[in-house]
Parts: sequence; structure tokens; C-alpha cells
Amino acid sequence: EQPTKTESLKVAVVGTGYVGMGTAVMLASLGHQVVGIDIDQNKIEMLRRGELPIYEPGLEDLLRASQERLRWTGDYASAIPDADVIFICVGTPPLPSGQPNLRYVAEAAQSVARNLNGKLQVVVNKSTVPVGTGDWVSRILEDHALDYSAGRYVVVSNPEFLREGTALHDSLYPDRIVLGSSSPEGIERLRQLYQPLLEQTFTPPEGMPRPANYTLPELVTTSLSSAEMIKYAANAFLALKISFANEIAGLCECVDADIEQVTHGIGCDQRIGHRFLSAGAGWGGSCFGKDTAALINTGSEYGYTMPILRAAVEVNQRQRHLVISKLQRHLHRLQGKRVAVLGMAFKPNTDDLRDAPAHDCIARLMDLGAKVTVHDPVAMPHARREWAHLTYDEAPTAEAALRGADAVILMTEWDEYRALDWDQAVRTMRRRLIIDTRNVLQQLPQHSTVEQVGRTTLHNVP
Ligand code: NAD
Repeated sequence: EQPTKTESLKVAVVGTGYVGMGTAVMLASLGHQVVGIDIDQNKIEMLRRGELPIYEPGLEDLLRASQERLRWTGDYASAIPDADVIFICVGTPPLPSGQPNLRYVAEAAQSVARNLNGKLQVVVNKSTVPVGTGDWVSRILEDHALDYSAGRYVVVSNPEFLREGTALHDSLYPDRIVLGSSSPEGIERLRQLYQPLLEQTFTPPEGMPRPANYTLPELVTTSLSSAEMIKYAANAFLALKISFANEIAGLCECVDADIEQVTHGIGCDQRIGHRFLSAGAGWGGSCFGKDTAALINTGSEYGYTMPILRAAVEVNQRQRHLVISKLQRHLHRLQGKRVAVLGMAFKPNTDDLRDAPAHDCIARLMDLGAKVTVHDPVAMPHARREWAHLTYDEAPTAEAALRGADAVILMTEWDEYRALDWDQAVRTMRRRLIIDTRNVLQQLPQHSTVEQVGRTTLHNVP
């Protein structure tokens, strides 16, 4: 029943969000036949028209280039029975308790189960789910398969490590591919699926060349629960690396050291490395906050405390307050002051607003009576929908946001903000105060005061 090595596989991807869409398009570009399934009919209709519901660099071009091997549907029955491999990529958003909401995974698994074909089908958990969920999904499949005695499905955990903003690049040139399962057949089929990635035999798409120093990814095969743990532990470690840099940054401000010089010096040690050591407004996005909370929660289910992770979360919260205190240091009472915020999403090149530091910052500014003007190159349509509870004015350009402002907070390090003619832009401000929460400004704009993170306040006031 195993397809031969060179055969293209039939793949169903359940959930066409940031991960599902990237996975579907990437697999189709490798030559597989892919159908994406979503319960959100709007998304399906957009995709059928060739439009993308999200912003992700390069995705539109690759979608077009792979169109003949891609199909979109809301109907499980037209997609699952034929599939050799079924990816579950639905969301697992956090509940107030910190536990991830597994409702969507359960519903997806039930719908998959009702449409299994009785032959060997591999169901892959790509959603980030607590350790033990793979076994639970197996149980759901068993309970809901119409004729489960014939069902020969197996479950594999294949966590996703892509980063929004560079999702396609990360999918095509991964550091490793993790497959967790007790089924050798399941692992073997996914090894076939990923063969072009593992051996890098595909032709790189235009605009996304293979990095010069790229080495073939390692295939890491583990038990189901180890694979699930690898995903959480990886995200938790990255989050804590950033929090560590931020904790040292705070001390740098006390002792008049410079965090940029310090992290450069630390990162040259190959045991540490330069990446994820940037001091700033802290981490955000759909994964780090949710996954650290879930891991801490898993610990508490077993009566096991995780003090390092708790501290990483606490430091991250402190970073968000720091932005406002830096503003207050110069403007004091914020009532009636006009503050420009550049960048809404948690990082550049994405329109994903989940757990973005800008949200808390704008909410706090509102509480303190400030008037807020915002700009973001791509996230404004999402913000109008998802942040309707926040009150702010929208500016069509970064320059326009700065006009008449008492201060500007640079929240997201878009290239467009780095490249701004700052000398010119600050001239239109009422007061030339810049809170650069990502330490990106290299030169001080004229007659301005710049606050960065982990560095002394810089004045360019003759
Ligand atoms: P998302 O919210 O962007 O997309 C989830 C999609 O699933 C939505 O389109 C939704 O309509 C759909 N869906 C929900 N229930 C469904 C059902 N029963 N059947 C079909 N479709 C259904 O989520 P995302 O950011 O793509 O994340 C998906 C998973 O991947 C999460 O577990 C997340 O933690 C993990 N992950 C995300 C990233 C990232 O950068 N976004 C990276 C690695 C891992």
C-alpha cells in the first residue's frame, strides 16, 4: 500500500491558516497533489479566486506557480477519502487558563475520521498540541471512524517550526524535520513526502534561492510524545533567550552599559550564538505566549513547577510596560498628548496581530488619556476587525503618523521604518521624542531625543 518512492502523494491539509496554507503551497510546489480544507467558507472562496487571506512574502507567487496541483474545499468528503497523508493544521488558541483550546483539533479529527477510506492513511498533527494529544487524536479517530475495524490510519506528530514573515523559506530550507510516531509505516510515508526537502532535489522557486551555506536537514524520528515536547521546548527556549537579553538590557540601563555591544560580545561565543538575543519590546505573536503558557500548564497538571519559564514570561510582560515608562520619563502626564505608533504586528513582514506588544501599548496609552495615531504597512485591515475595541487614528503613511505628535513609538522593525527620512519626518512633530523599542535607529535625527532598550538615552540637541 505504500506509494513508490518517486510517486507524488495525495495530501489533504485541514485548516488553511498561516501554517496550513504554507504547508499546502509548499507541498504542491514539491510536486504533490494537495487539497486544502477549511470550515471558513470565506477563506475557501478567496483561495479559489487565487487571493490570499493572509500576508506572507512569496506565498502568492508560489501559489500561482503550483496552482494545477492545488485545490481548496470546505467539504471533507471530497478530500479525505483519497488522501495518502492528512495534515491537521487548525488553530490551538490559548484558553484563559493557559491551556490550548483543543476544540478545533477534536472537530477536525472527527470530520477526518468519518471520511477515512479503510486503507493505510497517515494523519499528521502539525498543530502545536500538548504532549499526549497524538494518542488522544488516535482515540478520536477510532471512536468516529465509520468502520473502524477496517481503518488502518496511523497518527504522526510533525511539529511546525516556520516563522511568519519567512514561512516559505523556513519550509523549503528547514534545519530539521521532526517525525514522532510508534508506526514505522507512518514515518516511512512522511519520509517519502519530504524526500525532496530532505535531499533538496527540488528546483528553488524564483526569488527564494537555497542559502549558500545550507546543509541538508536532519530527519529526527522520535516517539509521539517526544515530538510534541520538542515543539514546546524549542519555542520556550527561544522565548527565554529573548527574555534573557531583555533582563540584561535592563541592568545595562542601570550601570550605563550598552546592550547592543553586550549581546554582540556574548553571541560571538558559538555555544550561545547571535540569534534571538535582541533586546526590545519583547516577544509576541501567536506562538511564544501560548506555548510557554501551555508548557507551564502541563507542568502544573503533574505538580511540576517551571520557574525558568515563569520568569521568562514575567520579564516579557515587564518589557511591554517599559515602553510606556520611557515615554513618561520625558512626557510625564500622557493625558491629551499625541503619540504615533509605527507597526502593529509583533514583527515585520506579517499582518498577524495575535499577542502583539503594540496592542498592550495602545491600550495603556488609551487608559492614560493619550491620543494615538497608528501606521502599519500591511496589518491595518486586520486591526480594523480584530482591534475594534481600541481607539486610534489611522495614518496613511509613517510620515503622516508623525505629524503633530509629541512622541513616536517605533514598535515593529519594518525596513520601511528603518529607511524613513527621519531628519525630515521629525521636523513635523510637536516634540521630537522617539521611543525606538527595537533598537533599529542607527543615526540620531536632528534635534531629537531617542530612547532605545538597554542603552543610555541619546540626545541630539545642540
Ligand atoms: P490560524 O488560526 O491562522 O489557522 C487555523 C485555520 O484552521 C483557520 O483558517 C480555521 O478556519 C481553520 N479551522 C478551524 N477548525 C477547523 C476545522 N474543524 N476544519 C477545517 N478547518 C478548521 O492558525 P495558525 O497560525 O496557522 O496555527 C495553526 C497551528 O500551528 C497552531 O497549533 C499553532 O500553534 C501552530 N503553529 C503556528 C505557527 C505560526 O507561526 N502561526 C508556527 C508553528 C506552529
